Amino acid sequence: MPELPEVQTIVGDLNRKIKGDTITGFWSDWKKTVKMPFERFEKEIRDKEILGAKRIGKNIFINLAGGKTIYIHLKMTGHLLVKRKKQNAKRKTNEKDYFSDRVNQYIHHIFYLKSGRTLEFSDVRKFGKIILADTDKIAEIKEIKSLGVDAMSREFTREKLDEILDNRKTKIKLLLMDQSKIAGIGNIYVSEILFEAGILPSRPANALKKEEMIKLYNAIKKVLEKAIKLRGTSDSDYRDTAGAPGKFQEVLKVYRRAGKKCPRCDTIILREKMGQRGTFFCPVCQK
Ligand SMILES: [Zn+2]
Repeated sequence: MPELPEVQTIVGDLNRKIKGDTITGFWSDWKKTVKMPFERFEKEIRDKEILGAKRIGKNIFINLAGGKTIYIHLKMTGHLLVKRKKQNAKRKTNEKDYFSDRVNQYIHHIFYLKSGRTLEFSDVRKFGKIILADTDKIAEIKEIKSLGVDAMSREFTREKLDEILDNRKTKIKLLLMDQSKIAGIGNIYVSEILFEAGILPSRPANALKKEEMIKLYNAIKKVLEKAIKLRGTSDSDYRDTAGAPGKFQEVLKVYRRAGKKCPRCDTIILREKMGQRGTFFCPVCQK
């Protein structure tokens, strides 16, 4: 599932590519994704200017003129592509055409824009969600209301992390992934963050010492910042709006590296199941 760095990459792309454009139409072959009557959705977004995109946790918001916002959740396999009119027409022969990659072929929804561009939603598993909301009421959407502090927001301070960990016996990995506590961290980055901080995923949150908590806070910021810089991790379906993979998978230290050597101490990286998900760690570097 796309996590904070992937969603941040997409939102940045949207602001560069489609901000100021106007929606002229919408097509879908899987209308269930749109959580309202399809015709009404199409009518409400048509002829509306795109004011910009933003993000809370893993959730994308596209604000429209007239006070409406399109809320998109990519879920497991969704990603957004922005295509120019006749994408391939003037392509140089040596330029890679990512749109023809298989992973970018599962287009189920298309927003048509005045510039001739299209915003397309590729989603092989079709679990994604599109919801139209009042811009001033997005905080009241069920999925948003329950979110904790965004991991890259100014509100997420060291004190805030301390408060979240305090008195909780939950395993630290599961607590960090709990979107109602901290929004944005999922299974990939939690393994990398805990490796960076030198903390075992199974440690109870309230057993962390002060200096470990500080290391953890710094690791969250460091790993997420680096992943944003590298435009996310494409270990499966995630692609940016040009259809291109991110680069963070090239620098992963423990995630999906079970059986390989720890980059720090050469011990074999282990994988354990925790909360139904694979959890990767070095049994020596992490305590
Ligand atoms: Zn190690």
